[in-house]
Formats: sequence, structure tokens, C-alpha cells
Amino acid sequence: MVIVGGGSAGWMTAVYLNRLYNHSGKNLDITVIESPDIGIIGVGEATVHSVRFFFAAMGLDEAELLRETNGSYKTGILFRNWMKPVGGKTHEYFHPFEHQRLGRTLDISSLWFLNERFKTERYDEGVCLSTALLNAGHAPKGAGSPPYQGVVPYGYHIDAVLLARFLRRKAVEAGVRHIEGTVTDVEVADGNIRAVSTADARHEADIFIDCTGFRGLLIDKLKADNWESFEHALPCNRAVAIQRELAEGEEPKPYTTATALTNGWAWQIDLVNRQGTGYVYDGNRMSQDEAEAELRAFLGPQSSILKCTHLKMKVGCRRDFWVGNCIATGLAGGFIEPLESTGLHLINLAAGLMGTHLAAPEITPGARHSFNRLMRGFYQDLKQFVVLHYCLTDRDDSDFWRAAPATVDHCDWLKAQLEVWKHKVCEFHDLAGSFSTTFSDENYRYILYGMQHYPELRMALAPDEGARVFADLSQMQQNVVALTLPHGEALRRLNS
Ligand SMILES: Cc1cc2nc3c(=O)[nH]c(=O)nc-3n(C[C@H](O)[C@H](O)[C@H](O)COP(=O)(O)OP(=O)(O)OC[C@H]3O[C@@H](n4cnc5c(N)ncnc54)[C@H](O)[C@@H]3O)c2cc1C
Repeated sequence: MVIVGGGSAGWMTAVYLNRLYNHSGKNLDITVIESPDIGIIGVGEATVHSVRFFFAAMGLDEAELLRETNGSYKTGILFRNWMKPVGGKTHEYFHPFEHQRLGRTLDISSLWFLNERFKTERYDEGVCLSTALLNAGHAPKGAGSPPYQGVVPYGYHIDAVLLARFLRRKAVEAGVRHIEGTVTDVEVADGNIRAVSTADARHEADIFIDCTGFRGLLIDKLKADNWESFEHALPCNRAVAIQRELAEGEEPKPYTTATALTNGWAWQIDLVNRQGTGYVYDGNRMSQDEAEAELRAFLGPQSSILKCTHLKMKVGCRRDFWVGNCIATGLAGGFIEPLESTGLHLINLAAGLMGTHLAAPEITPGARHSFNRLMRGFYQDLKQFVVLHYCLTDRDDSDFWRAAPATVDHCDWLKAQLEVWKHKVCEFHDLAGSFSTTFSDENYRYILYGMQHYPELRMALAPDEGARVFADLSQMQQNVVALTLPHGEALRRLNS
């Protein structure tokens, strides 16, 4: 197998397949060809919590991973400014990774509505533990927490360049062959890739994995008209990324912040040594200079800027991720704007599916079809979930936000569900038949109710129903804060 590309996609896939096929015995030769002249995209610094299980399953040491990538912990995403201010205050809600299943006759979400708690508190504050950690500025771990375990599920903030370097070292140590070279020719015969050539060699293989980023250098040679654009549903097609120094005494935050600006939104991701920020925006509505100026103003004139990069984003996915003997993954396979930090997660999903679908001695059309159906499903579901964040807005202060509610017209399932969810809570069964492996009913609820799309319910509860559930939750919130360390302290211990 030849993998072309040495970004997160190339190295995560190499580490995974090598572990699965070669851990005790050699069943698959894996070579990664990486151009020394074409850099990696260098963004992609926040993860969802399931990426933790990927690193754990690869046998990587969590503390070493975090030390080598200047990493920090992430308990979720704080969304700011996605609706008009409420009572003169910036609108905010938190999307954690955690799901509480408290409640008897009714689940905690229904109880929260029926007790009319929405009149006085934010949904996430009322139903989860992670918000208590956020408010306290705590890591999801205590002094004695075992690797990869915390009091609530968590992901990471990691330096993307350092992560690729770290995974490369681990892959090479485990037996993956690494070649530095730029692929200049792709030989195709009978709908398959026969070989790729670098300046001084020709590399044959039975399977090629295209990890060349937005270029899609290999997969594009095999099939024309193989891209489904999501630009109507998700119009943000550009980003300006800025790295800034943390100010004196500023502790890294254990969560990502996503603040809505004029034509998109800005991420803020704190590493141990710096903050990664960026403005994801609709390039049809503003120039790159205007976007950079707005981001700099948002960060404040005092910010010490280390680096500024402008990026074009191709939002959508392959109709077929696997064509002939070539599989495209990472940005070569597709891209959904990074609002829910899902890039590495999608690579993780694809690597898992490659592992299972490549087990037969020969590639079969059935395996290819199955892989393509599942990958398309992941991207389609994720598209709808990200659109949910936009389409419920009541902001009307720019053309971008005035147009946002109509983005749901490109998501049939979501549009129909939003009507249904006017009179019932969103529940697990609503997602039956979907491909969503990351975002389930609980995640939908955090966004729906964070964006104040509350259902009108017609049930009547006994006056004390639910009181116990909320008392228990409140006690648990106090407990997790007592059990965990301030984030800065947790990171200092990790790095000392
Ligand atoms: C603005 C933005 C923000 C993002 N934020 C997040 C986030 O917070 N969380 C997240 O999970 N994901 C995020 N992503 C997605 C994430 O960056 C990518 O999914 C991830 O980095 C994988 O990239 P890649 O490896 O596919 O491509 P790249 O990093 O672009 O790597 C491509 C590789 O291909 C090689 N290559 C290219 N051409 C050739 C050639 N001819 N010969 C040899 N080698 C070649 C290059 O050298 C490079 O090694 C973000 C993406 C963008 C655009």
C-alpha cells in the first residue's frame, strides 16, 4: 500500500492500518510518500472526544502525546453571539461531549422543559456536568486520573504540525516506510492506479490512499465529476488563521470558543504555548483583507500575532471516496467547515472502515460500494448537523446572517425535523437510519436548545417530578469541580 501525503490524514491512516495489520506479523507493506516542498495545511487543532479513543487504541502514551503537541484538554465548544443578545448580554451556549441519562418516567431534557427551567437557566447549565467545569476553569481530570479517562468525556487542542510529526515518528518506529518526495506522475491503467512517480523513483502498489489534501491528486485521475459541493448549505469557503501569543498570566482555556462575526465565525483554540484562532467566512461577501482586519479587531489591538495565513476551503465531499484501487481520505475525501472540529474524526472513521473493508485478499465491488455509502452518509449527516447551528439564528445584522435560516432548504431531513421538534423533544429514535456516529440526539439538543428552539409540550407533571433529578445533578456538578484540577495546573503537572 502506498499512502501519498503526510498530513494528519496520511499519518493517522498509516498508524492505524499498520497497527491493525502488522502488530504481530507483517500482512501489509505500508509506504508514506510525503512532499518536502508542499507543506501540510497546518490547521485542525481541536478534536472531538472520540479521537481520544483512536490515540488510546494506537497504544500512544497520552501524556507524551500532549507534551509533544503542546496539547491541552477540551471539554466542548462555547458558542458566542450566534443569536441576538439576550437582556443586553452576548448570547452564549455550550456544547459538551457529555450526556447525562438521569430521569425516570421522563429524561432530563423533558424534565427541564416541563419544569420551565428554560425561563431562568441555560440548557447546558441545567443538564450536564461539563458546564460546571467550564465555569470553574477546570480540566476534565483530577490529579490521579488514569490516561485517557476523565470525569466527563473530553477531546484535545493540539498543534497540527506537531501532531503530524509525532505520528510520523510513531509510524516509522512501528515499521512504516517513509519516503520524502513530490509525486509528479500518476500512472493509470484500466481504472486503477498502477504507480506514482517521484523525481528519482517509480512506486507500484496494489492500493493507493490519497491523502494529498484539497488537491486530491490521485483520486481526480480516476474519476471526473466526483465532487458534491455543499456550498449552498454551508457558504463559508475561506478562512484566515492567526496564531497569537497567550498574554502574560493568561491560562489556556479547556474548551474551544466559536464566536459568530459578520460573515462567519471565529475559532479560539488554546494550546499550552499559544492560541490558534481563525475566521471562517463567506468569501463571496467579504475580501480576505476585510476578514483579516475583522479578526484582528476581534482579537484586540494588544494581541501579539505570531503568524497569519489565508486559506481557501473546498466544502463538500467525494461522490465516491474509493475508486478502483484508490481511496481518498482527509481533505482529499471531503471537508465540512470546522465548526464542530470533525476533520480528524472523519479521518479516524475512514481509517476504521479501511481496516475492515480491506481485509479480503482482493478488493471487491461490494466492499467499495459499502465504504462509499458509509462515508457519504457520514458527510451528509454532518452537513445537516453543522447547518443546524446557523439556520436557527435570529441575527439580522448582516446579509450573511439574514440568509442563514434559508440554508436549511438544502437539508431535507433537518427541515422536516425542525417542524417536528416544535412540539416534542429531540430523541434518539429521531435519528434512526442516519449515519451519525458522533452526533446523536443529545448533541442535537445542545444546539437546538442552546439556540432556543424550544418545543411546546402539553404534558402535566407532578409538582415534585424532576426535583430529585436536578438536585442530584447539582450535587454531581459540585463533586466534579472538587475532583478536578484547574486547567492550567493540570497542564503544568503534565509538562513538568
Ligand atoms: C480552516 C480550517 C480549520 C480546521 N480546523 C479543524 C479542527 O479544528 N479540527 C479538525 O479535526 N480538523 C480541522 N480542519 C481539518 C483538518 O485540518 C484536516 O482534516 C486535517 O489536517 C487533514 O489534512 P490532510 O492530511 O488531509 O491534508 P494536508 O494537511 O493538506 O496534507 C496534505 C499532504 O499531502 C502532501 N502532498 C500534496 N501533494 C503532494 C505531492 N504531489 N506529492 C507528495 N505529497 C504531496 C503534502 O506534502 C502534505 O503532506 C480544519 C481545516 C481547515 C481548512
